[in-house]
Amino acid sequence: MQHLVRKNILELAPYASARHEFEGEADVFLDANENPFDTGFNRYPDPLQHEVKTVLSSIKNVPIENIFLGNGSDEAIDLLIRIFCEPRKDHILILPPTYGMYKVSASISDVAIKAVPLTPDFQPDVAATLAASDAHSKLLFLCTPNNPTGNSFERGRVEEFLQQFKGIVVADEAYIDFSSQKSCTELLAQYTNLVVLQTFSKAWGLAGIRLGIAYASQEIIGYFNKVKPPYNVNVLTQKAALEALQNHEVQQKQVQDILEERKKLATALSDFPFVQHLYPSDANFLLVKIEDPNALYRHLVSQKIIVRNRSTVLLCDGCLRITIGTKAENARLLKVLKTY
Ligand SMILES: *Cc1c(COP(=O)(O)O)cnc(C)c1O
Repeated sequence: MQHLVRKNILELAPYASARHEFEGEADVFLDANENPFDTGFNRYPDPLQHEVKTVLSSIKNVPIENIFLGNGSDEAIDLLIRIFCEPRKDHILILPPTYGMYKVSASISDVAIKAVPLTPDFQPDVAATLAASDAHSKLLFLCTPNNPTGNSFERGRVEEFLQQFKGIVVADEAYIDFSSQKSCTELLAQYTNLVVLQTFSKAWGLAGIRLGIAYASQEIIGYFNKVKPPYNVNVLTQKAALEALQNHEVQQKQVQDILEERKKLATALSDFPFVQHLYPSDANFLLVKIEDPNALYRHLVSQKIIVRNRSTVLLCDGCLRITIGTKAENARLLKVLKTY
């Protein structure tokens, strides 16, 4: 693992915050220059978010030592690039069509991108991807279920990468709670080059609090903690996340409702003559191929309904991506589609 990590990160002496230096029981805290008057938020947050991780650990069945929490998955993606990729020397591998942040994050760090398109049925081309990689390929981003296509990658292909790719395999599972497939977290014990990303932004209904999760070997979690800003997850976010985790059944019910709506919406959509193809979805959205996607997009906008126009994206010719809404929202979408 060490040979994959940037030298400056290996040698980095991380910032030692007051909350980090003293861990234990005490009554009087005069160590962090905080305002002593209780506003509810006058104290710095727990830098390692023990409470949130404890509950998350039991729900997801991953030991606390293998969990990192960040300011959205986007922070975890950025930190991975900064930990492993030497600017202008190393690169990341992405498999388009895929989530846009991998490329943006790499570009901000002046790290190059190698793109190997998915096959026409939206699966990774393992041989082509491995052929495109070399000693400078530090990170391979696998988005599964994939955004914007909605499908999951075959587990066999993911494992081929884990066995043969020489860098770190990042499985971005932002949509895993909507999926019929199992999480890659169950492979963590077997593969030390695996990082699994999840988020509170989708199934947990907490996009506004900005909380993302990375599961990985203890060694990789150590690098995350070394590089992250000391108080990267604020008190309000930790509180909201803890509350949601402690009421897990609320999330489970919402996911069930969304899955039911996904099924209903898919059936209804496939009846419209302008719907040319409906792709199977393991996520909380549907990718739909439309005869004239721009015209339909404009019609929906005129009726104050916004979907994502993906019609210019590689392999997604003519496609709109539609998030599953509430029952009422989906009914309104269908009503508007009938007037098109
Ligand atoms: C929505 C999404 C995320 C979530 O990012 P956050 O920063 O946690 O909100 C991550 N990956 C993919 C593929 C997504 O679609």
